[in-house]
Amino acid sequence: MQYHSTRQTDRLISSSQAIHQGLSEDGGLFVPDHFPQLDWWELTGLDYPALAGRILGAFLTDYSPEFLQQAAAAAYEAPFAGQTAWLCDISQGLYSMELWHGPTCAFKDYALQLMPHLLVEAKHNLECKEETLILVATSGDTGKAALAGYQDVPGVRIAVFYPNSGTSEIQRLQMCTQEGNNVAVYAVEGNFDDAQTGVKRVFGDEGIRQQLEKRGIQLSSANSINWGRLAPQIVYYFAAYLQLVKRKVVQPGEAVDFCVPTGNFGDILAGYYAKRMGLPVGRLVCASNKNDVLTEFLTTGVYDARREFYKTTSPSMDILVSSNLERLLYHVSGNAQQVAGWMEQLNQQGHYTVPADLLAKIQQDFAAGSADDAQAAETLRRCYEQNGYLCDPHTAVALRVAQQYQQKAGDKTPMVVLSTASPYKFPGDVLAALGRSVPADEFEAMEQLEQHCGLPIPQALKGLRQKPERFTQVIPPEGIASAALA
Ligand SMILES: *Cc1c(COP(=O)(O)O)cnc(C)c1O
Repeated sequence: MQYHSTRQTDRLISSSQAIHQGLSEDGGLFVPDHFPQLDWWELTGLDYPALAGRILGAFLTDYSPEFLQQAAAAAYEAPFAGQTAWLCDISQGLYSMELWHGPTCAFKDYALQLMPHLLVEAKHNLECKEETLILVATSGDTGKAALAGYQDVPGVRIAVFYPNSGTSEIQRLQMCTQEGNNVAVYAVEGNFDDAQTGVKRVFGDEGIRQQLEKRGIQLSSANSINWGRLAPQIVYYFAAYLQLVKRKVVQPGEAVDFCVPTGNFGDILAGYYAKRMGLPVGRLVCASNKNDVLTEFLTTGVYDARREFYKTTSPSMDILVSSNLERLLYHVSGNAQQVAGWMEQLNQQGHYTVPADLLAKIQQDFAAGSADDAQAAETLRRCYEQNGYLCDPHTAVALRVAQQYQQKAGDKTPMVVLSTASPYKFPGDVLAALGRSVPADEFEAMEQLEQHCGLPIPQALKGLRQKPERFTQVIPPEGIASAALA
């Protein structure tokens, strides 16, 4: 299996190179040059790490199968305590796959618990002796998941930059109490865009690159444009399908739909890869919050980022430029030059439109819908009251969109909603949605939610209260470069 950019296809590289480099020099994203085919029924009976080893092995062909198996065991056994791809019944034909039973209580652990193993092995395969410095700008979940994944990994350092007062208090404490000798965390004055722009500037600064090179350091990123973050997410679609066959919810070969709360389009795109590999996936339903740029695109073929940015109760979906969509455009059009043109137009003018036949092709696999904060809160409450099922605000957006899709489509295809975060990461918003009063202190809110619902608070979040805050520095955006070089 080889990889090339979404914007030009003539330079082929290995999976180790794709993971080590992250982004192509031409600005494109790396994609596999074909979709490997897997007979899903032959995967029946495998446990999650074994399943991950098999699926990753189909893509990461320059890693040894033994290595992938061991890495998957290390990433998914102890850290998830047996609760991988945890499927819960909500109502007839509707399921929630809880992906937040990992160390940081968000689905990003699936990628970021495994990715450090993949990066270290890639450096080994490429005989790269330099130290890797990973820079992350985060609005919350990615930062913590990356810190937890890269803590004390040899040959790697990581620095995380988050917007000062731009995350939930729980998310902030998760990051500032991070242990490990190779980690640093900074609050940046300003919003997420300021932090992100500051980090991007460091990546693009030739002077900084040269200084780092002299010291034997190479920059890298941990965000979801890296193939090493996308590939591990394909696995849980297979795991969900195999569970539904085992429970006899579907006959072997019958389709299952998936609804995914979407931001950067990585999580849902992994479902598209699963489908193209031969898994009987029906529709992939993209759920947006009030920032519904993707829903508009999947409905009209017009991608228009020139719109107001809303801060919502599902902050990890507050995105106007959804990077991974570029991979889908390449796979559906098969035309790198065209993709480069659309991305250029997006960059210059803030919008582009795809032709009607391409949109029709996309709509064979994808549907979309959106829910604002009030609608998501209403669904969260109704789901708890009618079905006894508690979810976080991101999952609530998807639940609403899934239920609307099922009503409209009127068919009986089972639907799996991907549940992306623990409700205890957003205890205040969840309490408010349930119609309860919200205490000012978030730990107090966690405890009230636990008393009200009986769902235990994850130990990793409960323990935050006692942990010392190691990182308290607040820097201006211009200070990101010197912090990175420190
Ligand atoms: C990151 C995140 C998402 C969005 O996932 P994408 O892969 O960016 O589409 C949704 N929900 C939560 C809780 C997240 O952390």
